Amino acid sequence: MKITDLLKDSKLSISFEVFPPKDDTAFESVRAATEEIARLCPSFVSVTYGAGGGTGRQTLKIAENIKSKFGVPTLAHLTCVASTRETVAKRIEAIKAAGIGNVMALRGDVPAGLAGADTGSWDYKYASELVRDIKAAAPDICIGGACYPEIHPESRNQHDDLAHLKEKVEAGCEFLTTQMFFDNNLLYNFLYKALEAGIKVPVIPGIMPITNANQVERAIKLSGSFMPQRFKSLVDRFGSDPAAMKQAGIAYATDQIIDLFANGINHVHIYSMNKPDVAGSIQANLSEMLGK
Ligand code: FAD
Repeated sequence: MKITDLLKDSKLSISFEVFPPKDDTAFESVRAATEEIARLCPSFVSVTYGAGGGTGRQTLKIAENIKSKFGVPTLAHLTCVASTRETVAKRIEAIKAAGIGNVMALRGDVPAGLAGADTGSWDYKYASELVRDIKAAAPDICIGGACYPEIHPESRNQHDDLAHLKEKVEAGCEFLTTQMFFDNNLLYNFLYKALEAGIKVPVIPGIMPITNANQVERAIKLSGSFMPQRFKSLVDRFGSDPAAMKQAGIAYATDQIIDLFANGINHVHIYSMNKPDVAGSIQANLSEMLGK
């Protein structure tokens, strides 16, 4: 099922992001965690992809497993940084062969191990080029892309970032999922500016439940997200008590989602970090709203 068709439903719904194992040794534990998440029957599950292609095979194995065992629609991520057109073409063929109907087309970031490498053989600069290649090779695949309510870190300003985002949509990107954010006003502001810039595809807000204090620094470093004082106070107060921090982080994410629903958003994507208990608790907190 295409994500864009799912998004046409006005019923409130959530989906989860999971990540694949780095290698075969971790496959079983990741498979078990992602199956528990799929058992929650989210509207879809997205499976991330290691930039540079490290986890490509694992991404498809996890996505295929969820789809075939639980009938949950899946969205396979694909990055193009440090890749050749030939490698990407093979990946697209593998996605088609696996019957995965949705792809998240991403540029990715240059992996640390490739910093300073000779980039002569790299065929892609931006995700919009990947979107064009997927569209040409697999016109039936529904293509998603990433967007950044607080601006992508490499962009000079929001005007430029939105202009590039519009190019990505015009290349064939049919929906967008946001980077994590911890203040919903940033999302509302972004939605307004995106519409003003002529970006009319559905935008799915991405919510990251922060359930331990160590995650905070990593999340900010990765996303550059603004941390509201309300969230910082929560980490100050409960950060040294793992069980309390987990409960508070789940409550904060739930609160963000309820506010999004209350303000007219029908679908929210949750970065589950492969934690079925966190995903399940958030879903339970929303059970009446989701009709589950
Ligand atoms: P792009 O859309 O190419 O944008 C990157 C930058 O280039 C932006 O600043 C943009 O404004 C600029 N730009 C675009 N076009 C042009 C142009 N023509 N001229 C000048 N500048 C331009 N990473 C992974 O490795 N694996 C994943 O599975 C993964 N999943 C993600 C899921 C989501 C929802 C999000 C938000 C991010 C994800 N990422 C993932 C991280 C992502 O790869 C990085 O944020 C990366 O830095 C940018 O990828 P992009 O696809 O947004 O790039």
